[in-house]
Amino acid sequence: MTARIREFLRNRREDGPCVVVDLDVVEDNYRAFAHALPDTRVFYAVKANPAPEILRLLARLGSCFDTASVQEMEMVLATGATADRISYGNTIKKERDIERAFELGVRLFAVDCKAEVEKIARVAPGSQVFCRILCDGAGAEWPLSRKFGCVPEMAADVLEHAHRLGLEAYGVSFHVGSQQGNTEAWDQALGSASAIFKQCAERGIILSMVNLGGGFPTKYLKEVPGVESYGESIFRALSKHFGNRLPETIIEPGRGMVGNAGIIETEVVLVSKKSDEDDVRWVYLDIGKFGGLAETMDESIRYPIRSERDSDETAPCVLAGPTCDSADVLYEKVPYLLPVSLEIGDKLLIEGTGAYTTTYSAVAFNGFPPLKSYVI
Ligand SMILES: *Cc1c(COP(=O)(O)O)cnc(C)c1O
Repeated sequence: MTARIREFLRNRREDGPCVVVDLDVVEDNYRAFAHALPDTRVFYAVKANPAPEILRLLARLGSCFDTASVQEMEMVLATGATADRISYGNTIKKERDIERAFELGVRLFAVDCKAEVEKIARVAPGSQVFCRILCDGAGAEWPLSRKFGCVPEMAADVLEHAHRLGLEAYGVSFHVGSQQGNTEAWDQALGSASAIFKQCAERGIILSMVNLGGGFPTKYLKEVPGVESYGESIFRALSKHFGNRLPETIIEPGRGMVGNAGIIETEVVLVSKKSDEDDVRWVYLDIGKFGGLAETMDESIRYPIRSERDSDETAPCVLAGPTCDSADVLYEKVPYLLPVSLEIGDKLLIEGTGAYTTTYSAVAFNGFPPLKSYVI
């Protein structure tokens, strides 16, 4: 909680939950990434929080952008950043969207199979492509395994196909899983990347780039290593697998760039029990899974929640959202400790909510408006 956010919330008069993002924290995060990985270009993963103020700040600081759709590209271009700072990092693209991206000037594309290479060769000739490889996501709280990437053994064929079709086979990418708590998680994938560089070289194709993806964590309830530790560990793994012929590298932080810059303010709508014998209270908030807290799915992300009664005794509660969907329960398998003195109407602060909240909130489920966002 920064002083600026505290001040903002003190003066806010509107009703309803909101997220407040402090741009100073985003700027600090950007500089920390640039410092921890000095020879690496930063491509901010726009999906984490595409607020125009955040994109403008990062554009001014020199960041590049990882986008997954033409709409995200247009948001980036609206900041004045040029298309050579944009990658189309989604491995699943319609051919007409690739064509549109190419018209906008984008020349950097992710692929994970030959069919996707063929689309790019047809409508974005001469572009750079990198092949995403699967990564098991071990150690991550929000794994991105299975859906994206091919097995490392297939990557050289995909890249060779690109080369033959007149594209530039540029490199390899992977994502070690979001909210990755293990600083060593990059080691194995870098070993695979280095093997793919060798296989391609044997076929006369010289790759030059490794895209290290995102995964850098935000502090929720548990402590996480600092970005410096990630930088050191990644540099060690790069040296181990590539020797003194280090490839060009890029990172795509999303959560690590904006997560800790945002705080959600929410209100307690109801505190109740299902029977007189129950000792676990149900606490219902005016925000839930459909209002921006989608990452509580399977109770994956456990946000720190503060109240003005934090010095009081606590007891476990089931925490739920306000909508008429029984899936709209945030924490039940592992109940959440909240003050026993908590009352209807109390305001709670949910920390670490600058990433993956606004973009996940429904337009008007049950008539509740999407999560209001202020960037200060
Ligand atoms: C979502 C995503 C990211 C950002 O991941 P974080 O764990 O939030 O840093 C980076 N790269 C790609 C391709 C993504 O899909």
